[in-house]
Amino acid sequence: MKWVYRIIISFTFLSLMEGVENGCVSARFFNDSNQSQVRNIRLTSQKESVQVSRQKPPKVDFGLSKEYHDFVPHRPEVKQKKVKPPAPNQLYKQVKLLGINDLHGQLNVTRKVNGKPVGRVDYLAAYLKQREAENKNTLLVQVGDMVGASPPVSALLQDEPTIEFLNKMGFTIGTAGNHEFDEGVSELLRLIHGGTHPNTGNWKGSIFPWIVANVINGKTGKTILPPYKVIKVNGMPIGFIGVVTTETPRLVVQRGVVGIKFTDEVEAINRNVAELKKQGVKSIVVLAHNPGTSGSNGEKPIGQLVNIANRVDDEVDIIFGSHNHAYMNAMINNKLVVQAYSYGTAFADVNVEIDPKTKDIVSKQAEIVTTFQEGIEPDKEIKRQIEGYEVKVDPIINRVIGSTTVELTANQNESGEICNGRPHCGCTKKANEYRFCVDKPWRNKSRY
Ligand SMILES: [Zn+2]
Repeated sequence: MKWVYRIIISFTFLSLMEGVENGCVSARFFNDSNQSQVRNIRLTSQKESVQVSRQKPPKVDFGLSKEYHDFVPHRPEVKQKKVKPPAPNQLYKQVKLLGINDLHGQLNVTRKVNGKPVGRVDYLAAYLKQREAENKNTLLVQVGDMVGASPPVSALLQDEPTIEFLNKMGFTIGTAGNHEFDEGVSELLRLIHGGTHPNTGNWKGSIFPWIVANVINGKTGKTILPPYKVIKVNGMPIGFIGVVTTETPRLVVQRGVVGIKFTDEVEAINRNVAELKKQGVKSIVVLAHNPGTSGSNGEKPIGQLVNIANRVDDEVDIIFGSHNHAYMNAMINNKLVVQAYSYGTAFADVNVEIDPKTKDIVSKQAEIVTTFQEGIEPDKEIKRQIEGYEVKVDPIINRVIGSTTVELTANQNESGEICNGRPHCGCTKKANEYRFCVDKPWRNKSRY
């Protein structure tokens, strides 16, 4: 029997970059004879974002597309016996910092780690609330790439749903990652400060502060967001400084960052540490959207974060890293450096003790927790929020945009393109296998 497929495809242009361009495609298939849905797959089922590199990538510590958007499905530390943390010293103030990085708006996406379902922010929320309940002096921090390269539930609504999630969770502070610049600085500032957008109307903005110390407006000479912020918790001042990778201009559309300078991370951190020291702030946490990784016991740390930890002022106590979606939990030059994978599938739980006399952090230790869905109920409020946004994007996702007489597959070539063997796709046609090229829709510079 010959099938004629009607296709409903929604393209989400995740990040339109010079050299690296991303596209995400969902498709549903209908049998034309009875109009019934016969299949529902994501053409990008293997990877949430399709990445195509067209020019020699700049030399960086980690490869460009794959490692920057990869997902780690096997996590050795999960199987290791947990080392019991030392009992809290009652002379010191106990503070908990819960950190997430590289969420990429994956509000409703379930993945697998060690063969078991993980992720979705309603589960992440349940974990964060559980850990928060352990210590009333808990701060929630985010380390960038909360938005961008996101699925339809967030991307089709200008990623406002993701900021709304962070608002609802009571995040304390965050920094911008490279993906926050995907649609340019003005859209980033609208997301944070609020404003109208033709696609979504009025938006109230982020209710928690965002900081970035190394992104300067060339005209004013000032940072586009405050470089640091001091938060008092249980009477103890903690200084937070944010930075984003200086590779950002190479990873985003140029016109969105015209006149914006991304300056050296270490210089920016040290300049602001000096300022914080002048104010008597001794507990200092850096939110760095920079890559790094380590072994599960903190051994063999590598990446830009190692360089940053070795070069920043010794008053810095903790560095939350980000960007390459990896595990990191290492002591480097007496600084605790952590990263918690990506996509809401993990978070960093950092416990610190602050000496009330010196107001300095005297001990710190971290656990990177994977958000397995098994054994925990999703947070009801956040679940409702996600469902509301799913209903909103449904009509856009279900729009019929064309038809095809060949079966579509999710086969991809080496660059992650979905192909049918046409020469410009750069893939080889295998026998008895239809392949389909979406004509590189991500070449189109418009959002949809
Ligand atoms: Zn990033």
